[in-house]
Amino acid sequence: SEDKPHQNLAVIGHVDHGKSTMVGRLLYETENVPEHVIEQHKEEAEEKGKGGFEFAYVMDNLAEERERGVTIDIAHKEFDTDEYYFTIVDCPGHRDFVKNMITGASQADNAVLVVAADDGVQPQTQEHVFLSKTLGIDELIVAVNKMDLVDYDETDYNQVIEEVKQLLKQVAFDGDKAKFIPTSAFEGDNVAEHSDNTPWYDGETLLEALNALPEPAPPTDAPLRLPIQDVYTISGIGTVPVGRIETGTMNTGDDVVFQPSDVGGEVKTIEMHHEEVPKAEPGDNVGFNVRGIGKDDIRRGDVCGPADEPPSVAETFEAQIVVMQHPSVITAGYTPVFHAHTAQVACTIESIDAKIDPSTGEVAEEDPDFIQSGDAAKVTVRPQKPLSLEPSSEISELGSFAIRDMGQTVAAGQVLSVNER
Ligand code: GDP
Repeated sequence: SEDKPHQNLAVIGHVDHGKSTMVGRLLYETENVPEHVIEQHKEEAEEKGKGGFEFAYVMDNLAEERERGVTIDIAHKEFDTDEYYFTIVDCPGHRDFVKNMITGASQADNAVLVVAADDGVQPQTQEHVFLSKTLGIDELIVAVNKMDLVDYDETDYNQVIEEVKQLLKQVAFDGDKAKFIPTSAFEGDNVAEHSDNTPWYDGETLLEALNALPEPAPPTDAPLRLPIQDVYTISGIGTVPVGRIETGTMNTGDDVVFQPSDVGGEVKTIEMHHEEVPKAEPGDNVGFNVRGIGKDDIRRGDVCGPADEPPSVAETFEAQIVVMQHPSVITAGYTPVFHAHTAQVACTIESIDAKIDPSTGEVAEEDPDFIQSGDAAKVTVRPQKPLSLEPSSEISELGSFAIRDMGQTVAAGQVLSVNER
């Protein structure tokens, strides 16, 4: 299974529409529930006289994990199909899901949107579709779930499809690239097997649709970019910055620099999973040590890169943003907190240069006085403290950001160009 191509899959949708249940169902159907979990549940089921192993027991287990809290539940669950090795990235419902999705902490290649047949498009359905579009996910598999609750009614199914198509149109999502499947995560209809309950549907099952996804683009040949998450002091080693390599590779002996702190040196050691390695690649979480760098020289939000291709530091930058939710209007001078990779910096929107028609990408209005929820715009931004960013066209991993204010994500955007310090 290791040599199958890898896919990071986001399972998105409104709360309670069945995302976790669908993930559990996928794990179960692809025989990726660990043997000991199945054994344990078989035994429990027999003890309780419930007879035989049931899918519900897998779900109980997931529910328990959820109660235990934070990071586990469906995040980082893995399963493989005939074609791919899938990792479920992050978990909607987690407080920081939206931010993580934007800042790259949970970069997804493709997404499954779960919409409950008895509830239709809801606010989070909208928000997540919006985001997946902004983030460049362009293939969407839509599971119209809980079909059992509407007696597998084709009319109800079609109505939900229409609502979703309407939403896709709003965000200029190519409707031809969305697939719709009537499912019941609970009963297993059209997940692995074509269901007898939906004789009117002759399309793919969810697993078939997952197998048919295009392969993710290969990693770029961009230079090393490693946003720093934390900086530790470890006895015997010294200062150890940690973070995930977004692009490029890091080798011991490399000459690196941290921006915007503007210090650098030679990489002495790299550690991954508590072992020393000579080299690390995109996706690797590493701790490393750089000759001559002390704990107070660098900080979270710095980006490490090669000394001869250093990370860019923005004096100002141009960006395209989409306003997701803002109680009033956004005007020039607005200074919320921008979250980009591991950095959080207050930035001023110096000017709103153009309003963009999201369906064509063309300028709809030059120099508008304000923008509001639902608007897309080109803006010029001035960070109030040095901030390392890259144009999204060059290094997309370092080119997107979330704008947070009043405890919520008010907008998301991509960097068009950087005017360096
Ligand atoms: P999430 O918040 O989107 O992850 O939703 P969950 O997976 O936790 O599901 C919410 C509730 O809906 C739970 O009580 C599930 O048992 C139930 N549920 C999920 N999928 C289905 C389904 O296909 N049919 C029915 N009847 N209930 C479902």
